[in-house]
Amino acid sequence: MGKTGQGGPTLQFLGATDTVTGSKFLLKSGESNWMVDCGLFQGIKEHRQRNWSPLPFAARDIQGVLLTHAHIDHSGYIPLLIKNGFRGHIFASEPTIELCKILLPDSGYLQEEDAKYASKKGYSRHSNALPLYTYADAIHALSYFQPIPNGDVTKLDNHMSVQLLKAGHILGARFLQVTVQNGSRNRILFAGDIGRYDSLVANAPTPIHETDYLVLESTYGDRTHPEEDIFTRMADIINAAVKDGGKVLIPAFAVGRTQDILFIIKKLTETGRIPADLPVYLNTPLGIDATSIYLRFATEHKIRNGNGKSLFQAPNIYYVHDMEASKRLNAHEGPAVIIAGSGMITGGRILHHLKAFAGNPTTRLVIVGYQADGTRGRALLDGAKSIKIHGQPISVRCKVEHIDSLSAHGDVADIMHWLKQFDRPPRQTFLVHGEPRCSQALAERLRDELHWPVYIPRYLETVSL
Ligand SMILES: [Zn+2]
Repeated sequence: MGKTGQGGPTLQFLGATDTVTGSKFLLKSGESNWMVDCGLFQGIKEHRQRNWSPLPFAARDIQGVLLTHAHIDHSGYIPLLIKNGFRGHIFASEPTIELCKILLPDSGYLQEEDAKYASKKGYSRHSNALPLYTYADAIHALSYFQPIPNGDVTKLDNHMSVQLLKAGHILGARFLQVTVQNGSRNRILFAGDIGRYDSLVANAPTPIHETDYLVLESTYGDRTHPEEDIFTRMADIINAAVKDGGKVLIPAFAVGRTQDILFIIKKLTETGRIPADLPVYLNTPLGIDATSIYLRFATEHKIRNGNGKSLFQAPNIYYVHDMEASKRLNAHEGPAVIIAGSGMITGGRILHHLKAFAGNPTTRLVIVGYQADGTRGRALLDGAKSIKIHGQPISVRCKVEHIDSLSAHGDVADIMHWLKQFDRPPRQTFLVHGEPRCSQALAERLRDELHWPVYIPRYLETVSL
């Protein structure tokens, strides 16, 4: 790695530096400008405001975008890139494209709702707050997607090619092995988000043996997932709520976590560990759509059976589509499980259920995923006794349970296991997608145990390869 401007390829870090969101990298070589991942910043305001800062180059000068996977912090900036003049293709695996078809329009809808709300409540400095992009912008963006098959080397232009390899994590997630041939050859592996070796639904990440440069996530760089029997833990929580006649609220990411939870609940019901007549409501239209995409790509994950359909379905699991039925759940008497978005309680139907049930000590709020700084989910994990929803304080008297073992991200042990399969160290490993303490901790492990060179880039930094 040398100074910039020496003629070789350069890599600029446009996001996922000192935070887990906003994954966006610019790979430049000669006349080729490719963006790898195109995600939104989420979480604290300082980071979210970066979504509004113009990119340090013209969107029309980008030839194309490569996506590791569909999560919004990796894909959610795409409609804005197109709004700003990008006209190339967006390459991704087929399941990633199918998931983007539901996640991006939802993101556009949420941007519009946030803007409307800010205008109404006067949160915005402007009386008429504008959305980052709209539902219609997101629908328009879908026509730019182009699938890339798994494993084949696909030529992108005269200098660059890419190979997609399964990363685990969520349906469709891929490692992107990009080769830049411009005089010399450089291979850069963008690992996106790395899955786990003991995931319930996702396959294990593909072993990689060599690359020249590695861009590596560090979400769980400082810890291992607790070893717990997730089925027993969930059964205990649900049965305690049933005994108290209370609700189990599970804020869940639509893609990945929702399918894990459905699978666990179905198993617990089938084996008689929770009551067979306990109603379970999947109250997330996005989660319902994502589940049907999981079923269509049954060979992409571990749990397969002949008719796919029954994987996430049981007689006591109800899929709630419309808003009226969702609202009626707040008047539901007796115990029930409600799975609703969003995963970090930043929006979605879970907010209404928290308004209705968070004040009740019989309620169990089960937080099942990573909670970014600045989100309600993080505040609740940190013991907040009151949270604001729609500008109104809501007192929290329910029991907050934290299940950390269901993360879709590999922990430090998974990442080290994956790295140990390399035959030789990359020339440089760039650690991204982690809060500073997590990236630092992983950097130390890489230096001490593997003796690999490691670098933690800063926001907007450009490095020469
Ligand atoms: Zn992800």
